[in-house]
Amino acid sequence: MCEINSHGGNVVVKKILELCLKNGANLAEPGEFTKRAFLNGRIDLLQAESVIDVINAKSEKEAKTGIKQLEGFLSQKINEIKKEIMDVMVNIEVTIDYPEYDTPDVTEKELSDMLDSVEEKLEKLEKSFDNGKIIKEGIKTVIIGRPNAGKSSLLNAILKEDRAIVTQYEGTTRDTIEEFVTVNGIPLKLIDTAGIRDAKDEVEKIGIEKSKELVKEADLIIAIFDASEDLTKEDMEILDLIKDKKTIIILNKSDLQQKIVEQDERLTKVSSDIIKISALNKIGIEKIYDKITELFNLNEINLDQDIVITNLRHKNLITKAIKSVRKAKETMEQDMPLDIIAIFIKDILEDLGNITGEVVTEDIINEIFSKFCLGK
Ligand code: GDP
Repeated sequence: MCEINSHGGNVVVKKILELCLKNGANLAEPGEFTKRAFLNGRIDLLQAESVIDVINAKSEKEAKTGIKQLEGFLSQKINEIKKEIMDVMVNIEVTIDYPEYDTPDVTEKELSDMLDSVEEKLEKLEKSFDNGKIIKEGIKTVIIGRPNAGKSSLLNAILKEDRAIVTQYEGTTRDTIEEFVTVNGIPLKLIDTAGIRDAKDEVEKIGIEKSKELVKEADLIIAIFDASEDLTKEDMEILDLIKDKKTIIILNKSDLQQKIVEQDERLTKVSSDIIKISALNKIGIEKIYDKITELFNLNEINLDQDIVITNLRHKNLITKAIKSVRKAKETMEQDMPLDIIAIFIKDILEDLGNITGEVVTEDIINEIFSKFCLGK
């Protein structure tokens, strides 16, 4: 190992690098250092993947989950589950391989207790992915409202910058604007839509269809109404569209004379979370943040104690392992011989081994490390 220190400046550094390469040095590939650490057994695959998560973290909570994974908490949990299975597996193997010896048979009870316990632990991990997804991808939030209700103004107030165009003309926000914003440490993925109205032209039509689609996909709807006017037909259509979704209703333009009140049944029927704001004057925006925190129990995600899965690859393997557990249980109920049950139990071990990288294939390793940037 050698370390070269030089004077600053691009030319000098570039010259030194060229000289090194000319003399046989190789440039580090993306993720090279982390990959070597993994291949040399210093860290497992879970820890290697968490390096990417920490680098790419958009919020403090996300970085914190990544660091926890890097410290090996998830690996430890997976290894504990594996050990629990192995302890019973050893007995099964002995019974299968040496039926002639007088080894204590694995009692059915022991086996089914183990499968129940493993299933419960894996299900808990699988469930944590919902929170993990929120931490990693943000709460997919759609701001919806008829033209001029104040969608762009609200988006601006939230983003505190002029990315969304605020205008008095209808429907300038024809396509959608998407923006990440971290509120109270939680990333929101905000999507502003074109608003719902009778389609006048093709472009508008696309906007509306898209709005409907987005509403379907959204984790949270922020429906904004102009409280200085009575609810219009379009407003009613919007209320109908979002009635089954997790929704915060915003009564905007609180600075003007009010025509709609918070107690309006047409609104309370759809959501009891109704907030008065003035998007233009940025008044009441904090109340929206507090409501989101409350609605998603974000204060309850305890990153110091709970292990949270944030990676889809891990989640899929855990789901697969749960299926193998259930299959093993079914096989037991059907009174199948031990060696058949053992096949499914080995599947569980393999799925878990894939997560930590013990039995992982080269393709998967290459795919994972291709997500890294150079020299990390
Ligand atoms: P969008 O079409 O739903 O995106 O609505 P905009 O955000 O473009 O707002 C439409 C118009 O209403 C603009 O002229 C805004 O300045 C105005 N507006 C937005 N929020 C408020 C508010 O809280 N009070 C008042 N008085 N005007 C507002």
